[in-house]
Amino acid sequence: MTKSADVIVIGAGIIGLSVAWRLAKAGVSVIILEQGQAGAQASGAAAGMLAPLSEADKPGPFVELGIASLRMYPDFVASLKEESGLETECVSPGLLRAALNAEEAEALQTANRWQQATGLKAVLLSGEEARKIEPGLSPDIVVATLSPDEKQYESPRLVRALALACARRGVQIIENAPVTGFQTFGDRVEQVRTLTDVWEGSSVVIAGGAWSKAIGEWLGVNLPVSPIRGQILSLRALPPPIRYTVYSHAGYLVPRPDGRIVVGATAEEAGFDVRPTAGGVAHLLMMAPALVPSLKEAVFDSVWAGLRPATPDRLPILGLLPGWRNVHAACGHFRNGILLAPITGEAVALSILSPDPHPMIEPFRADRFQ
Ligand SMILES: Cc1cc2nc3c(=O)[nH]c(=O)nc-3n(C[C@H](O)[C@H](O)[C@H](O)COP(=O)(O)OP(=O)(O)OC[C@H]3O[C@@H](n4cnc5c(N)ncnc54)[C@H](O)[C@@H]3O)c2cc1C
Repeated sequence: MTKSADVIVIGAGIIGLSVAWRLAKAGVSVIILEQGQAGAQASGAAAGMLAPLSEADKPGPFVELGIASLRMYPDFVASLKEESGLETECVSPGLLRAALNAEEAEALQTANRWQQATGLKAVLLSGEEARKIEPGLSPDIVVATLSPDEKQYESPRLVRALALACARRGVQIIENAPVTGFQTFGDRVEQVRTLTDVWEGSSVVIAGGAWSKAIGEWLGVNLPVSPIRGQILSLRALPPPIRYTVYSHAGYLVPRPDGRIVVGATAEEAGFDVRPTAGGVAHLLMMAPALVPSLKEAVFDSVWAGLRPATPDRLPILGLLPGWRNVHAACGHFRNGILLAPITGEAVALSILSPDPHPMIEPFRADRFQ
């Protein structure tokens, strides 16, 4: 096994894999060190929505980054399919964001004004109009926004495809290899240490998801990422009661092609505990029929949880670490790491390969927390 590569990536979630794949496509040799299994943390738990409009409450750098990444998705998944042999696309007509009371309706109407200026389609509908296109919706829904561009992908499949595509490009994914520290010289990291080995690379990428804070601390850099647990479950109902992703203030329903409806998600501070709880499951089971009443009859399928990597401003941390010449951050993607995977791969790879940073990276630098 080679113990050196051009770039060492820490973490094999969707972010580390996307950065590694983009670098490998540019002819760069990459080793990914993963403390557990590739894709087994937040990236494997995610609902897989690509929803830059629904996930934002105001226009700004996050929406712009999200839209740029959304626009990269068709090429990203086409290339993934070609290189991995796996189909990752979920055919989806888009997302319906529903309001169940006057206050939520006002918020949707206000948001619709800035959404119109983004270039993505966002159509305001009355409850009745929404039920015409999605008859399973609750009669309590008073207003909805239809976003046909906000798609969804099955994230465990995306991650599997990315891991395969990386491997076929020669990326070494070393599992069960927790990074425990660095050997530094001046403003450079020279070696990355795991429990049993030492790894050398010209550049290092920190893509450790909710665990990134500890990695930053070894270098004296504040990467304030903390875990926010999301519990999420699936129901089975045939024929499928919805075709659109239904998104609301309280949670969302994501229909899968095999008849499962993914119901998500809680948002809790529970440290690094990924065990689902009775209260979390109860909340999701109450929320689902409030949006689509026939889900009361659905069969319970399974429940799981993941840790969203959250920063204080809920924005990711991207690019060169302050004070270090060869260490790059790709972490803190909170609720939107699936959406932001293509643009993160591109922007972080560029920060390694080129003296000119990606034009969108500036608001997301770690400098804002030092
Ligand atoms: C319930 C839920 C629903 C979600 N839904 C969506 C959604 O619909 N759309 C969307 O865009 N996003 C969604 N997200 C958010 C998304 O899952 C995350 O933003 C994304 O997965 C973060 O990817 P990551 O690679 O940074 O983190 P992870 O997938 O957690 O990967 C980080 C990896 O780093 C490894 N690691 C950490 N420290 C070390 C170390 N010292 N040494 C070696 N390896 C290390 C970990 O083991 C882990 O595998 C959801 C999240 C949850 C929990």
